[in-house]
Amino acid sequence: MKMNVEAVIIGGGPVGLMLASELAMAGVKTCVVERLEKPVPYSKALTLHPRTLELLEMRGLLERFVSKGSKIPSGHFSMLDTRLDFSGLDTSCPYTLLLPQVKTEQLLEEHARSLGAEVFRGAEALAVTQNREGAQTIFKDREGSVRTIISKFVIGADGAGSTVRKQAGIEFSGTDSTVTAALGDVALLSPPPSGVLSLCTKEGGVMIVPLSPRRYRVVVISPYRTQTPKDVPVTEEELKTDLIRICGTDFGLSEPSWMSRFGNAARQAKRYRDGRIFLAGDAAHIHFPAGGQGLNVGLQDAMNLGWKLAAAVKGAAPSWLLDSYHRERHPSAEGLLRNTEAQTKLIDFTQAGLHLRSMISELLAFPEVNRYVAGQISALDVRYEADPDMPPHRLNGLRLPDMKLNVPDGSSERLYSCLQNGTFVLLSLLQEADDHSRVKGLRTVNASLAEPNEKWQDVHTVLIRPDGHVAWAVDASAPDCTGVIQTGISRWFSVTSPV
Ligand SMILES: Cc1cc2nc3c(=O)[nH]c(=O)nc-3n(C[C@H](O)[C@H](O)[C@H](O)COP(=O)(O)OP(=O)(O)OC[C@H]3O[C@@H](n4cnc5c(N)ncnc54)[C@H](O)[C@@H]3O)c2cc1C
Repeated sequence: MKMNVEAVIIGGGPVGLMLASELAMAGVKTCVVERLEKPVPYSKALTLHPRTLELLEMRGLLERFVSKGSKIPSGHFSMLDTRLDFSGLDTSCPYTLLLPQVKTEQLLEEHARSLGAEVFRGAEALAVTQNREGAQTIFKDREGSVRTIISKFVIGADGAGSTVRKQAGIEFSGTDSTVTAALGDVALLSPPPSGVLSLCTKEGGVMIVPLSPRRYRVVVISPYRTQTPKDVPVTEEELKTDLIRICGTDFGLSEPSWMSRFGNAARQAKRYRDGRIFLAGDAAHIHFPAGGQGLNVGLQDAMNLGWKLAAAVKGAAPSWLLDSYHRERHPSAEGLLRNTEAQTKLIDFTQAGLHLRSMISELLAFPEVNRYVAGQISALDVRYEADPDMPPHRLNGLRLPDMKLNVPDGSSERLYSCLQNGTFVLLSLLQEADDHSRVKGLRTVNASLAEPNEKWQDVHTVLIRPDGHVAWAVDASAPDCTGVIQTGISRWFSVTSPV
C-alpha cells in the first residue's frame, strides 16, 4: 500500500519530533517513521541549554518543559572547576534546564501529534530513493508488512547510524573513538552534600547530577579504562571501584537502572542536503557528549530546517532557501565538534594535564573569557552568515533575544510571542509599515523597543525569521530605505512553484 504525505521524517527521537512539530504547525502533511515500538526508558541527554530554551519559548512551549525540570544557572566546560556562568547572558533563559531526554521526547511527541503530525511507531525505514517528482521511502511496519510512502521531502533524523544518510550516499567523515567513559543511573545512599559533584584528580574524573530525589547520574572517566571498547558492558562493581579510587567513597551506590559506555567518535555529514533528502541531529553530527550539547544542536537544526521546508512545500521558498540549511547549520556543528574535541583533550589526568586544567579554569574566572565560552556552549553566540544580496547591516544574521515591544495602542508585547505561529515578523520601528498583508506567512508589527539598545539605534525595519534570526535590517538613514525594504521582501518571499 502506498501513502502520500508532504514530508517524511525517519527517526522519532527528539530532533525528528521537533521537526515534525515545526512542519505540522506550518500545515505540512508530515509523518514520522520510528523503529521503536515505545520510547526507550533511559535518557542519554539531561540538559537543555539557553538557545534551545529560547526556541521553545518562541513556540510557547517553555513553561511546559520548565515545569518538568530544574533550572541551574550554569554549564561546564570539560568538567573544569570554574563553571560557565549563564546567569549574565543576554537572554530570557539564562540557565540550563536539567530535564531527562525521555521527558523532552515525551513532550515533543505530544506536541507534534497535537499539531497533526502522524507518528508511526514500530516502523523501520529500509530504503529511500528520489527523483525529479518526489521521494520514496520503503519501510517495514509493526506487523512486518513492507510499505511505501511517497513524499516531497525525506528527513533523516535517524541518529548516528542513519539509514537515510547511507541511502543518500552522504559521507560521514571524521575520527573513530579513541577514549571511552562510563555512566550509571543509580541510587546513592550517601550522595555528595549538594547532590552535585564535578571532580578531577590524577585518578580520574567524576560527575554526579541528581535525576530525582533518590536517583543520580554518575559519569566516570577512568584513566585506567579509557581504552575499554564501547560495547563492553559497564558493571556496578566497576562504577563503585572507580568512585572509591577517585572520590574516596562510592556514595552508597546501588540499584543501577541503566549503565552505558560512550566514546569520543567525532563525525559530520559532508552535506546536509541531497536533493529532496536532508539530515538533522545525530544523523548529521556526532561527538563526545561533553558540555551536554548534542541534543540541543539537533533541536536547533530542526528549527532552522522546518520553516524552510514548509515554505518549499507551499511554493513560497526562494530558490536559494533550502541550500541555506547546510550553509547555516554545517558551521554550527563544526564549532560543536571543535569544542567537544578540545574538551576531550583537556580530560587529561597526568600531572601536566591537571596543571593545564587548572590554568584554563583560572582563565575562565575572567568574566569576558567565561562569557565567550558560555556563548558557545549555550549556543547563544550562533550568528548566521548575512544575506549577501542585501546591504550589510550590523543585525543581519544575528539571533535575537526576547525583547519587550511597545505597540502604538499603549500596550506591550514580547517579540517571541509574535513568532509563536512560526511566521516571519516584519518589525517596523519608526513609522507605520506599508501594507504587506498580501505576503503569505508575514506578520507586520509596528512597535518600538521598550528598552533602549545601542545596536538598534536608527533601525527602521527588521525582517525576523521564524527561528528568531534577523534575515535583514535597514536603518532609517540608509540610502533608499524604502527600496531596501521592498527588495528584502521580494527576495525572501519570492513566489516559486510548489516542489
Ligand atoms: C551518554 C550521553 C549523554 C548525552 N548527554 C547529552 C546532554 O546532556 N545534552 C545534550 O544536548 N546531548 C546529550 N547527548 C547527545 C544526545 O543524546 C543526542 O544528540 C540526541 O539523542 C540526538 O537526537 P536525534 O533525534 O538526532 O537522534 P536519536 O536520539 O539517536 O534518535 C534517532 C531515532 O531514530 C530511530 N531510527 C534509527 N534508524 C531508524 C530507521 N531505519 N527507521 C526508523 N527509525 C529509526 C531510532 O530508534 C531513534 O529513536 C548525550 C549522548 C550520550 C551518548
